[in-house]
Amino acid sequence: MTVREAAKETAGSQKPVRYGDTGDAERPLGRSIIRGLRCRCPSCGNGRLFGAFLKPVDACAKCGADMHHHRSDDLPPYIVIVIIGHVALGGFMMTDMVFDMSPWAHLAIWAPLTVLSALLTIQPVKGGVIGLQWALRMHGFGGEREDIDPGRGGPLE
Ligand SMILES: [Zn+2]
Repeated sequence: MTVREAAKETAGSQKPVRYGDTGDAERPLGRSIIRGLRCRCPSCGNGRLFGAFLKPVDACAKCGADMHHHRSDDLPPYIVIVIIGHVALGGFMMTDMVFDMSPWAHLAIWAPLTVLSALLTIQPVKGGVIGLQWALRMHGFGGEREDIDPGRGGPLE
């Protein structure tokens, strides 16, 4: 057997290396984020992700996937600020160049528009962040216990 044949035989029998894989089903990142953006369960895509405004359900009603692990924390507001900030600032600058309006008129238009658009986008963005965490098996979504320090094996202090 030549070295090339041995390498071919070895390569054919090896599974692709997936870091952090626990042998569970695949969790495609893009699909999970899109399902979260649609405020649907990242696991099945059918169950509702939120029970109330910005309040995720503890578990999916359709597939039973636990959602209480999520720790989206401050990331959704940061993402909303980046998106809405750029859109509102760009819109303000464009209307300021085209129309001759007083600062009060700009304030009357852009302040409510910015607040409203932020309120409309924060929940889908939070869903997307939860979908991201679910896909990457973060914060207990991979089945590991949250109260155990992975470095020491003992309880968190
Ligand atoms: Zn589900």
